[in-house]
Amino acid sequence: KLYNMVQDLKGNIRVYCRIRPSFSCESKNVIDFIGEDGSLVILDPLKPQKDGRKVFHFNQVFGSTATQVEVFKGTQPLIRSVMDGYNVCIFAYGQTGSGKTHTMSGPSGGSTGDMGINYLALNDLFQISKRRKDIIDYDIHVQMVEIYNEQVRDLLVQDSSTTKYPFILIRSCTGDNGLSIPDATMHSVNSTADVLNLMKYGEVNRVVSSTAINNRSSRSHSVLTVHVHGKDTSGGTFRSCLHLVDLAGSERVDKSEVTGDRLKEAQYINKSLSCLGDVITALAQKNSHIPYRNSKLTLLLQGSLGGQAKTLMLAHVSPEDDSFSETVSTLKFAQRVS
Ligand code: ADP
Ligand code: MG
Repeated sequence: KLYNMVQDLKGNIRVYCRIRPSFSCESKNVIDFIGEDGSLVILDPLKPQKDGRKVFHFNQVFGSTATQVEVFKGTQPLIRSVMDGYNVCIFAYGQTGSGKTHTMSGPSGGSTGDMGINYLALNDLFQISKRRKDIIDYDIHVQMVEIYNEQVRDLLVQDSSTTKYPFILIRSCTGDNGLSIPDATMHSVNSTADVLNLMKYGEVNRVVSSTAINNRSSRSHSVLTVHVHGKDTSGGTFRSCLHLVDLAGSERVDKSEVTGDRLKEAQYINKSLSCLGDVITALAQKNSHIPYRNSKLTLLLQGSLGGQAKTLMLAHVSPEDDSFSETVSTLKFAQRVS
């Protein structure tokens, strides 16, 4: 209770944790206890019961049986506030394989049965738009980019014959109607069918551009931005946006084992994830200087991090004992920003 009050004082930053189901019958489960109050206790598989216990606190914890809809419901108030003019950022953080893409996009393979936050969010926004159509006229557009090695690419560029997936620039967030990536294509969406098509298109582009570097999707950040433009009956207008971010895998790579491109990738990821942590921590502490400019990701999201904007970090962990040290570092990172 007291903890939640402290959270509220810290403003518009929330941290949730999601534990994915275990896929291995041999490994031990490190999750010891999940509290309704957002507490999470894990057990070090190598230490005897008592001193192996580590306790963490979040705003909410979703156990391995939580459904996509339950997780979405936890984010819904935040997502809906974008229709009232608030900027919102939702990040999926965690090591590769911990369930980030499952939460944001849905199950791998793209079956439509168990859709993730991206789809459910847009579906919800369309419904609100319909319900309010007599008082507010909404326009909804999306952009989708990936950031790989501190370079930004448009994933929804249609004309793939010419300049394929050109790098694009991030502008100061005050220019170009407040757009931070005016050069990324903007797509009007009116239905969930539109959204599904674009998401598929973006996935294909991501896969196509990844052939040279195997499994690149886990080493780039993907950002789906939903732009909302509202106009009320008296002619007043507002703009806001919702950023849905599937972050690169947070796992530490052993510097003695990787070299060249893999090492460079790992260094870019470490740097941008720690910059994100620094920005959110600085915001939570209400520092006067917020280091947005230290990474492309934070620069891109600058207009939607801080001020009146609302931020949600969804920390993902695997329950298996062989992931224990990554799980600890994910939970520490998430607790630092909360
Ligand atoms: P990440 O994006 O963090 O690398 P994925 O989302 O790709 O991880 O998840 C790894 C695997 O686990 C995928 O096959 C995914 O479908 C599965 N998975 C992840 N979370 C869940 C969940 N909550 N329920 C069922 N399967 C899941
Ligand atoms: Mg993924």
